[in-house]
Amino acid sequence: MDTKDIHLDIQSKSFTATRNACKVCTPLGASIVFKGIEGCLPMLHGSQGCATYIRRYLISHFKEPMDIASSNFSESSTVFGGNKNFIIGINNIISQYNPKVIAIASTCLSETIGEDVPAMIREYIAVNKDKTLPEFIYASTPSYQGTHMEGFHEAVYASVKFLAQGGEKNEKINIFPGFVSTEDLRHVKEIFEDFGLSYNMLPDYSDSLDNPAWEEVVKIPAGGTSIEDIKSTGTAKASIELGRVMNKGGLNGRIKNNNKVITAGKYLKDTYDIDNYSLGLPIGIKETDEFFAVLSQLSGKPIPKKYQMQRGRLVDAYIDAHKHIFGQRAIVFGDEDMVIGLTAFLYEIGVVPVLVATGGESGVLKQTLENDLNINTSGMIIRQGMDFEEIAALGKELNPDFLIGNSKGYYIARELKKPLVRVGFPIHDRYGCQRIQHLCYEGTQQLFDTITNAIVQYKQDNSEVGYKYI
Ligand code: SF4
Repeated sequence: MDTKDIHLDIQSKSFTATRNACKVCTPLGASIVFKGIEGCLPMLHGSQGCATYIRRYLISHFKEPMDIASSNFSESSTVFGGNKNFIIGINNIISQYNPKVIAIASTCLSETIGEDVPAMIREYIAVNKDKTLPEFIYASTPSYQGTHMEGFHEAVYASVKFLAQGGEKNEKINIFPGFVSTEDLRHVKEIFEDFGLSYNMLPDYSDSLDNPAWEEVVKIPAGGTSIEDIKSTGTAKASIELGRVMNKGGLNGRIKNNNKVITAGKYLKDTYDIDNYSLGLPIGIKETDEFFAVLSQLSGKPIPKKYQMQRGRLVDAYIDAHKHIFGQRAIVFGDEDMVIGLTAFLYEIGVVPVLVATGGESGVLKQTLENDLNINTSGMIIRQGMDFEEIAALGKELNPDFLIGNSKGYYIARELKKPLVRVGFPIHDRYGCQRIQHLCYEGTQQLFDTITNAIVQYKQDNSEVGYKYI
């Protein structure tokens, strides 16, 4: 069926409620960033349930302990303000965790009643000026504005804004990798090292959210971007930020800055005149080539042989499997940065993304695909603000060959009896999902092989005669 024949007009839906949103809550994204800062304890300013839900959700994906504090709003703090709870919460965190950083994210409730958290932080520091205090970071993350991705990018921006310091420039490169897997982070660091580039990666939860087994309980897991590295983002040679949407759908971008979206890279450019390279997630050859070209330019070195070989093998794999891949029809869903990266990759290998769906509402999804990535979207349905019930309804009409996205789409794939290639976040029904690779030639190779084998297995399982050679 051609997408132009789809009659289900979900834009004029007769219901108003979101059912099983294709997004997650905003402070959840901020919490992930804060878990990627060394010695940091995140605190949510709001009710206990927000922290509990986020902790449970993240544990299920990362399979790691997930301490996130809460200022634990009650009815009275909702009416009279949460300053008292805020102070008790900070005191408890310091006495129990002795963190280097306390990073606070707001929630729907504290934003709705208009809590002035920066003022609370200033007052706390003033009252306790004789004590040695941790650093403080605050990100504004109301969940009724934006998704976990806006929360993620907002927290990266807030961390830089609170801690970066100017001064004499050095040779380090700031890398803001976006919300990718722990294995992706390790791979990006390996690439920087192979180019001989020193870097400040923010966030870096490659260890703190993917630790070796401990012999005894550790309150704040080792790893993360050091405070010194965050401070030195203000004196770096250049910044690279990965993600084509970033926090465009968030409160910061929409309201506080007259629609001027502020990211960490843009803030450093505006404040400390640090060149900012804003790229997409390097998934697929085209987007990865762009990333490697920037690294080559910044390092003054050619692309190392190792990566030329990875690229060559990837091209070879595309050729080998094109007969299985070309013309396949896919539904791709998830957060906007990941969906854009995946759509560019699928388009590159000849898969038709018949439905590109996200819960994000940046307003720039379609134009980014068309203008920034030169993708002909005429055969695609591209929808923002989607929930999974809407994706399921469209899925029945589109009857794709496979789905690619997070595990929340499993029930749709099961109903359609089609393969689901699990990528991104959250993945709650598999192990090792925090180590799925997505980025650069190596990650793309993993994705390509996984997709190809999912298609081959589907054909094999549904073949009347069965076969052993392909
Ligand atoms: S109330 Fe808001 S911030 Fe709290 S868990 Fe729900 S969506 Fe997230």
